[in-house]
Amino acid sequence: MRIIHWFRRDLRLTDNPSLEWACQHADALCLVYIHAPDEESPWAAGAASCWWLHHALHALSESLAQRGHRLIIRHGSSLQELQQIADAFNADAVSWNRLYEPAIIARDRDIKTRLSEAGYTTRSHNAALLLEPWTIETGAGRPYRVFTPFWKAAKNTLPGEFNIAEPPDSWPPGADIEGLSIDALGLRPQHPWGDKLAAHWRPGEAGALDQLDHFVEHAAADYPSTRDVPAVAGTSRLSPHLHFGEIGPRQIRAALLGPDAPAAEKYLAELGWREFAHHLLYHFADTPQREFNPKFEAFEWRSGEAAEADLKAWQRGQTGIELVDAGMRELWATGWMHNRVRMIVGSLLTKNLGIDWRAGAAWFWDTLVDADLANNTLGWQWIAGCGADAAPYFRIFNPDTQAERFDPDRRYRDRWLSQPLAEPIIDLKTSRQAALDRYARLKEDS
Ligand code: FAD
Repeated sequence: MRIIHWFRRDLRLTDNPSLEWACQHADALCLVYIHAPDEESPWAAGAASCWWLHHALHALSESLAQRGHRLIIRHGSSLQELQQIADAFNADAVSWNRLYEPAIIARDRDIKTRLSEAGYTTRSHNAALLLEPWTIETGAGRPYRVFTPFWKAAKNTLPGEFNIAEPPDSWPPGADIEGLSIDALGLRPQHPWGDKLAAHWRPGEAGALDQLDHFVEHAAADYPSTRDVPAVAGTSRLSPHLHFGEIGPRQIRAALLGPDAPAAEKYLAELGWREFAHHLLYHFADTPQREFNPKFEAFEWRSGEAAEADLKAWQRGQTGIELVDAGMRELWATGWMHNRVRMIVGSLLTKNLGIDWRAGAAWFWDTLVDADLANNTLGWQWIAGCGADAAPYFRIFNPDTQAERFDPDRRYRDRWLSQPLAEPIIDLKTSRQAALDRYARLKEDS
């Protein structure tokens, strides 16, 4: 069989079921990546994601070259490019790993139908999740809306062990098909921001595997206690690697389920939140735009010039509130922000400043190297109080108290705040009360 493996967000050779299947069954193998940004969609990859993708494609392309294969790069409509390649390669089959964003599911469904109608065999596989969103449901046959029962059911369903496939050791001959250079995709940012990001990350499968080893060796055992301390490298920093599929959750689980199981429990629950986020996005497809809790559709977020100015100050790390500004500057400098600080900056934006959670989600979307539609939507709806299993509306983080608790020696704040801060743009106490009043009115109205 002549098989095309279509790389998408599965930029790895290990534990890649579609690639494995293709290598096992192909007499000739064509490896393709198609850059198909949907300009119409608000969720076309942001600047930081594009930077990451550029380097991840280079890394993948090099590791394929070492195995005698060329990664064929295309730009345009996924369907048209696949049809053209399948024709030129005289393919029998096209195989890929599944993704779960609603627009991508619809596109892939169409591609599957059109390729099948044209006589090609199509195969899709699961590389990205421990459990695909449709594989578990509540006793009443509905999707889960609350994390704890979701994760309990998921854990009961998961096999004790996954078989982790090594990179294929036998590679069928490749294809001589026209393609673009990675640079021609224009993914690198125009301004020198990318150089800053390069100081903090190593995109690609080798970088992901090293990062996992480092975490298992140095931080996993203390994860339950250090994961909330932003000055410490206590978390795995695997999120961008996971998003681009340079590593999969099965590999991480296998690496962690060693003798240190009690410490792994907490970490695996965070992977559980990732699974839950995908479950929700699959079953509640409009939640990147609309509140999960419909009561909030009537909520009056601030708008107008003053709100715009506050949003800008927040984005630039100029709110005058130390921990918030430190977090926003970490984000700008590194493309990542510690999870606790994400919650704190999100709470300030949506609760104290009364600004729509979608504005925060959009900024994160553009600046995070790990920007992920499922996780970002869940995070923002959770912090705004309108999401599934959300923080209750009266939970308003006080950034100063949080700083005393999680950054008592100021190490995190001092790392990111080089100049003295401006006057705070908001009084934490009065804005907290105003937020409580707004949320309470919402409760009364419903
Ligand atoms: P670790 O603590 O090492 O966790 C391991 C993995 O578990 C992470 O890589 C991630 O894949 C997953 N995970 C951890 N926490 C969560 C969570 N709360 N929800 C879903 N998955 C989780 N995460 C993203 O990957 N992309 C996003 O766009 C994103 N946006 C967020 C927005 C807000 C407002 C908030 C509060 C959280 C957001 N998160 C997002 C979740 C979380 O902050 C990051 O996954 C985490 O900080 C990544 O760092 P890490 O890999 O070191 O995490």
